[in-house]
Formats: sequence, structure tokens, C-alpha cells
Amino acid sequence: MTKTSAMDLKSFIEDVPDFPQKGVIFKDITPLLADAKAFDETVRRMAEPWEGSGILAVAGIESRGFLLAAGVALKLGAGVVPVRKRGKLPRAVYAESYSLEYGTATLEAHQDACPNGAKVLLVDDVLATGGTAQAALGILERIGGRVVGVSFLIELGFLKGRDRIKGYDARALIAY
Ligand code: AMP
Repeated sequence: MTKTSAMDLKSFIEDVPDFPQKGVIFKDITPLLADAKAFDETVRRMAEPWEGSGILAVAGIESRGFLLAAGVALKLGAGVVPVRKRGKLPRAVYAESYSLEYGTATLEAHQDACPNGAKVLLVDDVLATGGTAQAALGILERIGGRVVGVSFLIELGFLKGRDRIKGYDARALIAY
């Protein structure tokens, strides 16, 4: 695969209606992850806008974000910072809660996950309502990371998640 060619990555995403609950069309990225060329092109293109910009760490949101963040970090020569669900990280954390359709969820990252002022890229699989990314960005700012961008594989534009992360350079490879 050369740098200029572009695979149709959308064709590797499976729509699963009514998962995990009625009315949601779940974007299943496992066929894309399972294909070596599609996976490589995905992380390469997710990393591309930030090549050479001195990113020290790529923060990935549990759990599909981890898989993409690891690949993107390797492309950028950066480390990985896991942003995890509550109670999974063993040392002192910063936490942010956000609303789900029913109830709330909490994300956490280690307080010393990256040096103060380090350039950080946030990565996740899907931007939907934006609550998850907004919470993760709040944590990274409290840690002292300088978040220079947010890289999603998929953006569900009709949910207007971008409005929740205004001020950040947010990109997505695939839009619906
Ligand atoms: P949100 O906070 O609404 O932007 O939701 C984003 C998070 O929920 C991401 O971490 C996604 O993994 C997951 N997510 C939300 N909607 C979908 C969807 N339709 N298909 C797959 N994952 C989704």
C-alpha cells in the first residue's frame, strides 16, 4: 500500500442494528481490526495529521480506543496513555463523570500519566454524542497534557458530538 492510495475503510465496518440496545446502530470495527492492511492504513491515516508535531503520548479510551491508540502511537513514535473505566487503574487518578442515556459513567487516568506540558493526541473509535471524549479531554487537561488533537476512526455527525469538544482539532476518517 503506497502513501497515496486509499482503501475503502468504510467497507470494513459492519452495522449492527439494535446493539447494545434497541434503536442504536452499533458500528462494529472488528472486521477492520482483523484485516492487516486495513488496520495498518487506519492507524497510519489517523496519525498522519500529527506526524512531526512532537506528540509525546497518545491517549486511548477504553476499550476499542486502546487498540487504535497503540497503533497510532507506534506510527508517531509516541507512548500510550490509557484512559480507563472507573476502578481499573492502580495508582492516584483524575476522574471525570459524564452522562449516558441511562445514568452516568466515569473515566480515569493516572495523575502522572504524562509530563506537564507534553503534547498529547486523544484517540477513540467513535465520536457519537461527544460526552466520552469531553470527559477524557477534561482529565488530560488536569494532568497537564497539552492536547493538540483528537483522532477518531468514525464520526456520527448527526449526533453533533463535535459541539462538545469545540476548540480542539478533531478529525475522523469515516463520517456517517
Ligand atoms: P459518545 O460519548 O456518545 O460520543 O460515545 C462514544 C463512545 O461510545 C465511544 O467510546 C464508542 O466506542 C461508543 N459508541 C457510541 N456510539 C457507538 C456506536 N453507534 N457504535 C459503536 N460504538 C459507539
